[in-house]
Amino acid sequence: MIRIQSLNDLEQQLHYHFSLLRLPQKNWPVTYTHHNETVYDVVIVGAGMSGTCAAAALKLRGIHNILLLDSAPPHQEGPWTNFARMQTLRSPKELTGPALGIPMLTFQAWYTAQHGTDSWHKLDRIPRLVWHDYLQWYKQVLRLPVQNNQRLCSIEPEPHAHLKHPLAKLHVLDLPSQKNQYYYARHVVLALGMDGFGGPNIPDWAQHLPQSLWHHSSEAIDPKTFAKQHVLVIGGGDSALDAVATALENGAQQVDLGIRGSAYTHINYSKALGHFGHRAGYASLSPEQKSTLLGFLAQHATPPSRGTVARVVAAANQRPGSLNLYFDYDVQQATHHQSTISLTGIQHGQLRTLTAERLILATGYQTDPRRRPELHQLIPHLKFYEAHALAPNVPSQSGVFPQLNQDFSFQAHAHTDYPLLAQIHCFMHAAILSVGRICGDIPGISHGAQQMAHGIAAKLYKVDFKHAFNTVQHYDEYEVSDADLHPLMALAKPHSELMS
Ligand SMILES: Cc1cc2nc3c(=O)[nH]c(=O)nc-3n(C[C@H](O)[C@H](O)[C@H](O)COP(=O)(O)OP(=O)(O)OC[C@H]3O[C@@H](n4cnc5c(N)ncnc54)[C@H](O)[C@@H]3O)c2cc1C
Repeated sequence: MIRIQSLNDLEQQLHYHFSLLRLPQKNWPVTYTHHNETVYDVVIVGAGMSGTCAAAALKLRGIHNILLLDSAPPHQEGPWTNFARMQTLRSPKELTGPALGIPMLTFQAWYTAQHGTDSWHKLDRIPRLVWHDYLQWYKQVLRLPVQNNQRLCSIEPEPHAHLKHPLAKLHVLDLPSQKNQYYYARHVVLALGMDGFGGPNIPDWAQHLPQSLWHHSSEAIDPKTFAKQHVLVIGGGDSALDAVATALENGAQQVDLGIRGSAYTHINYSKALGHFGHRAGYASLSPEQKSTLLGFLAQHATPPSRGTVARVVAAANQRPGSLNLYFDYDVQQATHHQSTISLTGIQHGQLRTLTAERLILATGYQTDPRRRPELHQLIPHLKFYEAHALAPNVPSQSGVFPQLNQDFSFQAHAHTDYPLLAQIHCFMHAAILSVGRICGDIPGISHGAQQMAHGIAAKLYKVDFKHAFNTVQHYDEYEVSDADLHPLMALAKPHSELMS
């Protein structure tokens, strides 16, 4: 067995394994230009974990003419270095995440190469910033082409002289120069993150509050600003607890946490879906089966993770009395006076008012594409799940979930003619209703990326069939030469002998 003791060793081993598997495959799609500009086979918007995993899956399959765009500055993609507040990931360290079945691409291989096996065994959960570093290495070792500070503004169809299907014309803003850029692509993968098909969920009662007094947990907040403050956090999940811990650790005078549920749950049922059967079979379940499964998950909130609970307890124990939890707290209205916020909620049938100087809404995300300007041109053509399509178990907000094909491409509704949708792939949480838990988070991401790459490859091949057939007809590699055949041919009886 080869001892891997550095990243350099790991990279050599990775490339050796690639050579055994003949990966990445050679580029095979036809190259096009449009008005002398490059036409990318695939532009992937979002270079977080999902976008990079998708790019890797495409490249390994011989689709090299790809580009990743991200609005974040270099090495700051995803939530990890900005608004994520947890110390460690919630997922177990053993998950193989974006490794695409390649052992040397796993987090474990990367971590062990640098810190050794003992350190791996001692590691409980993956520290957040270590995970971020791993994702950066993944991008670099696979030489994935990322352009940062590029914000997608819109996508529209653009006819091409030689292609039956339209190109996607991406209007992109180069953030440093504020100049408009345009990119052409045959396929677009949208990997815009957790709120990529919507936005932070801001409850109605908070809408009128001045922005200076509250934040959603998905905003980056300078933790030092919590010092000496009275902070009120609303939410029942890990993000709420991470905000509580951050506030306490940074010297908040008092933190109150309001939770709608009556207790924390203990079991994360979605972990039971981390097997190949679900990943391969979900899409072909009947609506009733999907409704049963998703409804069950919707009714059972995800419990907080062990590390987060321990962190909050440790922070609260440092200053007893600094943290209060209010379960069964259902906020009814919010008022503000100068720099004070007051929430009035019902708790156990009684009104309870909580007052603070700062409010953190850890209220999750809302799926609603109207909140994403870059999707506006597509929305009128998209086919959505009918509200209540998965009733009675799944709440009616399923009305804003898109209906997707197995390759994550959008479906068009019956009254529109918009072929481009079949070339735009929604590789984000909103896809879960259509394809199952193979996107958006760590457990199923490789499966989803590979499934999407297969679909894109199939579509590129079909559209270019003429060219593919031409390539077959003009294939000219000699399997055997005349010189090889000559001795064999010499044994053939002349035609005249056969006739006698
Ligand atoms: C705080 C937090 C903790 C999490 N912990 C876990 C965990 O422990 N385990 C787990 O499985 N999952 C976890 N998740 C869920 C999921 O794994 C992460 O959200 C992960 O980052 C998803 O990767 P992504 O590539 O889909 O999205 P992101 O990493 O968010 O990447 C999306 C990228 O798209 C870019 N972008 C968005 N809009 C545009 C635009 N218009 N133009 C150009 N670029 C754009 C953004 O800049 C961003 O870099 C967590 C999520 C959060 C928020």
